[in-house]
Amino acid sequence: MNGKKAYSLLKKLEFVRTGGSKEELAAANILLDEVKSIKKEAKIETFEVQDSIIKDVKLEVISPKSKAYPVTGYSCSGSTPKEGLEAPFYYLQASQEIDFLKAKDKVVLVNGYMNYDLYEKLAKAQVKGFITYSGDIMRDSKSSYIDERELRAQLHQKFGKIFGLHMKTKDAMDLVKSNPDKVRIKLLQDEVVGESRNVVAEILGSEIQDEVIVFTAHYDSVPFSKGVYDNGAGSVILMELYRHFSNKNPKRTLRFIWCGSEERGLLGSKAYVAKHIEQLDKIVLCINVDVGGVVLGKDIAMVTADNSLLNYVDYMAKEKGFSLEARQDIYSSDCMPFVDAGIPAINFARFGSDGAAHIHDSYDKMGFISSSSLETTGNIVEEFAKRMANAYMMPIPRKIPENIVDKVNKYLKKNVKKD
Ligand SMILES: [Zn+2]
Repeated sequence: MNGKKAYSLLKKLEFVRTGGSKEELAAANILLDEVKSIKKEAKIETFEVQDSIIKDVKLEVISPKSKAYPVTGYSCSGSTPKEGLEAPFYYLQASQEIDFLKAKDKVVLVNGYMNYDLYEKLAKAQVKGFITYSGDIMRDSKSSYIDERELRAQLHQKFGKIFGLHMKTKDAMDLVKSNPDKVRIKLLQDEVVGESRNVVAEILGSEIQDEVIVFTAHYDSVPFSKGVYDNGAGSVILMELYRHFSNKNPKRTLRFIWCGSEERGLLGSKAYVAKHIEQLDKIVLCINVDVGGVVLGKDIAMVTADNSLLNYVDYMAKEKGFSLEARQDIYSSDCMPFVDAGIPAINFARFGSDGAAHIHDSYDKMGFISSSSLETTGNIVEEFAKRMANAYMMPIPRKIPENIVDKVNKYLKKNVKKD
């Protein structure tokens, strides 16, 4: 594994590249060109994503004292009437039954990220709109940006649209302190169908072509983040693995998928699995890399597969002298749609220690990344992949253990059968 090559490719990817944007397309083309420079072919597989153009968004307190706050609008959360929508305000501080009783017909401010459970409860409580906030109370200043949020299709398809706004923590505190009775929210947007893409390259097996190992890493970022730690790092590690295996004649077929729109809800890997449903039974393993390159941190392997794989990777680390913390669990990344299709997965990552890495914000930049850290993780993945690619027979059972299946279903919000 050549950490220097990985590092220089990572520098080229150091720009905001949200799923479905033209910057994401530019990043896809950088990956495509890199594959070509290895004198191989890659293709781009596109898929549809929902997008929106926000035309206008406002939050105003109208009584007792009028005041406006800077906000962003949740894309794909619908449009209010042109003049906006007036409603009483409620600070929904916790997901207690009492909170939802009080929330009916109000615009509510909630803590933390919007998630499936909270959204379901807000929909049932018939709120008129919701507001989330993020940022640091000490660091927020007039110049700092307000995060951009999206209402995921999974939520509004199931529970209907609720108008969503997002604001800074500092302003949220000010809003609650002012104890407003009534607010007016305005959100006008055009919702359109956009396009995102996966980049796919393959090395055909020299002996067992019908057994495929897929390597996945997402190359998109969240808004305002240059996404080198999450997950340009995994993308360039994948590229170095591709370079390594491209002239090694591995026994099995190796397929590299750089996934788009992961940050928007694993859209790229979901699209890949849906599109290739007929060929999934050939895939024997998914090796996913998500976050890496951080100088201060540790390497981990999250095994979303049979316990024997956990032991295997742990033994391998001990045998080869790798510092690697291995566990069996699910991992919120592009492996999940594969796991859901019954394909065992292993996730490699280098987690930054507290304060030594930034994720999902404007500080995720090259400053805390090194070529040797990329190389450290890359070497672990390479050693493991080499063994899997060339094993006489595939040693990992193609099944997902029960304890993991439950977690996967919960994570992907399936209706778990009760018996
Ligand atoms: Zn990620």
